[in-house]
Order: sequence, then structure tokens, then C-alpha cells
Amino acid sequence: MKKNLIFLLCLLSSLSTISVKGQEKEVTISVDTLAQHVYMLTGQGGNIGIYVGETHVFMIDDQFDRLSEKLKTTISSLTDRPIAFLFNTHMHGDHSGGNARFNSETVTLVAQDNVRERIQLNLQPKVEAKEISDEDYTKMLPEVTFSQDITFYDGEETIMAFHVHKAHTDGDAMVYFMQNNVLHMGDTYFSERYPYIDLKSGGSIDGFINAQKKALMIINDDTQIIPGHGRRSNKAELESYVLMLENIRTNVQAQIDAGATLEEVKVNASLTKAYDSTNGIGFINSDRFREIIYTSLKK
Ligand SMILES: [Zn+2]
Repeated sequence: MKKNLIFLLCLLSSLSTISVKGQEKEVTISVDTLAQHVYMLTGQGGNIGIYVGETHVFMIDDQFDRLSEKLKTTISSLTDRPIAFLFNTHMHGDHSGGNARFNSETVTLVAQDNVRERIQLNLQPKVEAKEISDEDYTKMLPEVTFSQDITFYDGEETIMAFHVHKAHTDGDAMVYFMQNNVLHMGDTYFSERYPYIDLKSGGSIDGFINAQKKALMIINDDTQIIPGHGRRSNKAELESYVLMLENIRTNVQAQIDAGATLEEVKVNASLTKAYDSTNGIGFINSDRFREIIYTSLKK
């Protein structure tokens, strides 16, 4: 168990490292057109949402620092309008690692209150170790934060961002483009793979399920969903994903009620068996997923 935990922590800290030394590999940024004015960009790290408004661009998440120039080139192939807002769905480095490179006099960084606090906490040791400059540190931080929700207006479009509690972390927010009917769910949704739930940063399985149910109340059959990771999705797929999470949660809870230990739940493949072939091949395999759920339910 300990070995896996260490592996996970190492993997996570490398994910949130601003520049990964010696591991540079060619990353291609691909563009998916989801609606008239909304695109999904996929490269390495979390999926990016780009809304091209009447006069400016609204961007959601920015992957890693080292991909910033590539991302800027891709965005400028879609529009010559400047970015006005950069929204962070949460604090993980594969979603906010490019903040300093995008932040400028004319770009405003926006996120939920806890995102700013957690980025501060995560980066302070790096500032002290002189791995990042004071200037970059300041530019990494969201400049406008909100507690529950915030709304942006642009011509016909209304962009609603809302906080969901203790889901993937304690600072998650989703962003819904009402007219274009696109929802960016950040890491409260990993399509076609088990989700990572960052329990140490305030995430929980129950909050995760509740976040997805909240999304389902807002969207309709035609909504395009940008998940934090994985390919574009829709309401029907999200509905089956919620059922999957609820079933696995029920299975693990039954084991806890029967007195099972973490080790027993981790090796009990029957608890997730129905979903392993479709969801167990990503970053979180089925053992790790059972471990996350068990640990979350025992908290
Ligand atoms: Zn994340």
C-alpha cells in the first residue's frame, strides 16, 4: 500500500512540476470544435476550453508551462482576438501550470478561493528553493477569486462558473456556456476512465458524485461536455458514469460495513469488475480506485 502511495505521490508531484527536466517529448495540440464559438484543446495534461467571444477569448485551464507557446500558436490559429480571462477549474499543475506564461496586463486569472490558497501553498517551497522566480510566483496566482459562483456576460453568451464542494479537490469549479451549450467539468469528470480524487486536497467520493449530479441538472441531451481528461462527452455518458460511481461506492461501503480492511478491498477485484475493461486502463487503475474510495469513505 505504502509503495503505491509513494508512486502516486511521485507521479502527482511530477504532474505539478512546472518544467519536467529530461522528459521533454513532442506534444501535439489537437482542436475539437464543440459549438459555434467553443473549442476543446487537447495536448498533455487537462483538457482546455476556448470560447471565442465578440471581442475577446475566454480560456479554461492551461496545461503545463512548457506547452504555453504551442498553445498560444494553436489559439491564434482559431482567432486573432486576445485572451481576456483565464479560468482555472482547480489547482493541479496539469491545469494551471501555464498561468505565469498566460498572465499579462490584459489577461485576468479567475478561480475559486481555495485554488489561489492551494497554489500559494504548493509553490512557496519552490520559491524558497529558487525553482521559480518571485515574479512567476505572483503571475501563477488567480487574481479574481469567488466563493460559490461567478457569471461572465459576452454579447448573447452567458458564462456561468460554479463551485462544487469537496469533489476532485476542495476548489473545483465547472464552467457552463449557456448559448453554446458546452460544459467544462474540470477534473470532476474523467471520461472513459476511473477518476483521480485528491483526498489530501479536500476531494471525496461523495462530493465527486454530487458534483456530477449537479452537472446533470444543468445540462440537456444536446450539451457537449469537456471532461478534465479523456475525450469529449455528453449527458447520456455522464449519466452512466454516475451510475458506475454509485455502484462501486455501494460495493465498497458494503465491504466496510462487513469489516473489510483497506488491503482486502484493494485486492477484491469483484467490486469494480463490471467496469474495469472500460475504465481501468487510465492513470488510475482499479486497485488504486478501490483504495481511493475506501479511504474516502473511511474519513
Ligand atoms: Zn486534477
